[in-house]
Amino acid sequence: MIWVIFLQYTDNILNIKGIGEKTAALLNKVGVFSVGDLIEYYPRNYDVFKPIQSIKDAQYDETVTIEGFITDSVNIKKSGRLTILTTRLKDSDDSIRVVWFNMPYLKNMIKLGNRFILRGKVSRNNGYLQLEQPKIISKEEYYKSVNTMTPVYSLTHGLNNTTIVKAVSQAIGELEFDKEYLPVDIRKKYNLCGYSKAVKNIHFPKTMEDMLEARKRLVFDEFFIFSLAVNRLKEDKNKTLNSYRLNKDSDQTLYKKVMDSLPFTLTNAQLKTVDEIYNDMSGEYCMNRLVQGDVGSGKTIVAILALVMIVQEGYQGALMAPTEVLALQHYESMKELLLPFGLSVVLLTGSMTVKEKKETYEVIKNHEADIIIGTHALIQEKVEYDNLGLVITDEQHRFGVRQRDIFSKKGDKPHILVMSATPIPRTLAIILYGDLDISIIDELPKDRLPIKNCVVDTSYREKAYKFIAKEVAAGRQAYVICSMIEESENIEAENIKDYVERLRINLPPFVTVEGLYGKMKPKEKNDIMERFAKNEINVLVSTTVIEVGVNVPNATVMMVEDAHRFGLAQLHQLRGRVGRGKYQSYCIFISGNDSKKIMERLGILNKSNNGFFVAEEDLKLRGPGDLFGIRQSGDISFKIGDIFNDAASLKEACEGAKDISLENIRKMIKENSWIERKIIDYSGNAIL
Ligand code: ADP
Ligand code: MG
Repeated sequence: MIWVIFLQYTDNILNIKGIGEKTAALLNKVGVFSVGDLIEYYPRNYDVFKPIQSIKDAQYDETVTIEGFITDSVNIKKSGRLTILTTRLKDSDDSIRVVWFNMPYLKNMIKLGNRFILRGKVSRNNGYLQLEQPKIISKEEYYKSVNTMTPVYSLTHGLNNTTIVKAVSQAIGELEFDKEYLPVDIRKKYNLCGYSKAVKNIHFPKTMEDMLEARKRLVFDEFFIFSLAVNRLKEDKNKTLNSYRLNKDSDQTLYKKVMDSLPFTLTNAQLKTVDEIYNDMSGEYCMNRLVQGDVGSGKTIVAILALVMIVQEGYQGALMAPTEVLALQHYESMKELLLPFGLSVVLLTGSMTVKEKKETYEVIKNHEADIIIGTHALIQEKVEYDNLGLVITDEQHRFGVRQRDIFSKKGDKPHILVMSATPIPRTLAIILYGDLDISIIDELPKDRLPIKNCVVDTSYREKAYKFIAKEVAAGRQAYVICSMIEESENIEAENIKDYVERLRINLPPFVTVEGLYGKMKPKEKNDIMERFAKNEINVLVSTTVIEVGVNVPNATVMMVEDAHRFGLAQLHQLRGRVGRGKYQSYCIFISGNDSKKIMERLGILNKSNNGFFVAEEDLKLRGPGDLFGIRQSGDISFKIGDIFNDAASLKEACEGAKDISLENIRKMIKENSWIERKIIDYSGNAIL
């Protein structure tokens, strides 16, 4: 008798036949540890082998298959270490230059007058289109490959696509598919295909329709499980009695005094939100509130006032930010604002020394600090609070629902406030933050001048440098963002350093330029940010590490290199770093790719400074073929679902998760430990 041992989702990828230590280590680098992780490492795109097309229809930046005659004898040129081979291919009505790098042996194959099928990417050379590094396709190969789809995965240095394709296909072959867990009535109602079929077809679809059907099911599942988790949280939180109730009789003068001490008056939207928070915290039940407001709408001050309300009653309040830079910035501004009122603020971050941390733990535990600001360090086991009445997460989308929950468990059912700049419509927010009430700050401070935007090609760079120099001469500051997506951190650091050098050469000597990148030590980062905040650094060259929250109102120029590589949501966040003060601010998006599609997408930023508008227009431009567009940072991250594009599916899944009986949920989980783990991941709670 032969025993077949199937793979389980929870098994380590080393159990997959053909995956050794080396491949496993590479897969670990992209976050794939278990078989389930690999199955859910969905393709980023598909390479569709399109039929032969005529050369005149070839578009820049697209992969094309063309057939024709060689009309020029092959030219070979050496350039440094490169051997460059060029020729020309002609079909019935047009011709195109063809170039190969480091393939000198092709010279003997490519003969004048011969007929070839070539497949490759269309690039540009001196303004003319050319076919770069194409594959030579035999007739046989062509008929075998035409119209097939090959999955394209996100890669990392050393990990190539073929390796992932092999690993996934092996895993699918050996997998014992978890039983179909969705009740049949749900599958029928929402017209969903079977689970195992979906898994196979998302990785290896034969047709676009297969892929779309598979995707529909998997998106639904992801949202469905998420909804179950949110519902679980909601049950937990609704009707939690308020143990940190603001005393309505004592006149809450302190937060009003702080408000009066501000150099500006709050907008109506801010005032309304402050009222809502006050009413929540002085009501019968615990506060669970989301404050949503576009970048620069002034969410921080609202958070500060909430903290003041709670600490006036003798409780502690804590605020968690996603990065050290941001935590430090909040800490500095709160200290300055609140010290005159006798309130003490303390900072706790991961980069502090063990000794500093220990001292801070004591300060927190002994309630020598009223307000605690920090990063993830705030939710470490060792931190003990004293009478923690309010927890706030800034930039909630950077955290999981789970972390928010761990944070609140640091106290005994404290009030919860979360802040987010993700521009999602209210109907979606209600689902995604199902366990929270929502306040929306839909108004920018009055003194703001609208940011002036321009989307330009690289030839504009020199002008941009001159413009930056002019702004610096007038006392202002600038950010320059350059980032290589999907390259290693080392390359990123080198890139930034090179760019800093380049700017130092290109800008007048009075301009100070420094760089900031992900791999830097937190202390170095903080130091640079502090000097930038004090205008000791005029121009900051950075990767997207400064994307969220950073507030230096004196900065008026945001220049983004390679803007075409970023998602619009991310560019909007970056833009939010300027226009935060009374000065006219400018955004310069430099695109290294001027294809019509890309310019149209970037052009949306030109039309409006409003995050909701940008998100909506972006959605309209993304057709069904663009399901796996540039990863939108800033969105609540799902592996396959896109809250904008798949909004309808999100609603259905939420509805389905409401309808399913507790009994059915329990059954589903009992038979599929993988799902239970996900629910716990999302919510921090098991379903009982
Ligand atoms: P975000 O909503 O992006 O977190 P911040 O809270 O960092 O925005 O606020 C951006 C800037 O606007 C800060 O410098 C802040 O002091 C300032 N600000 C906040 N509210 C107002 C207001 N009502 N009037 C003028 N400036 C304000
Ligand atoms: Mg903020």
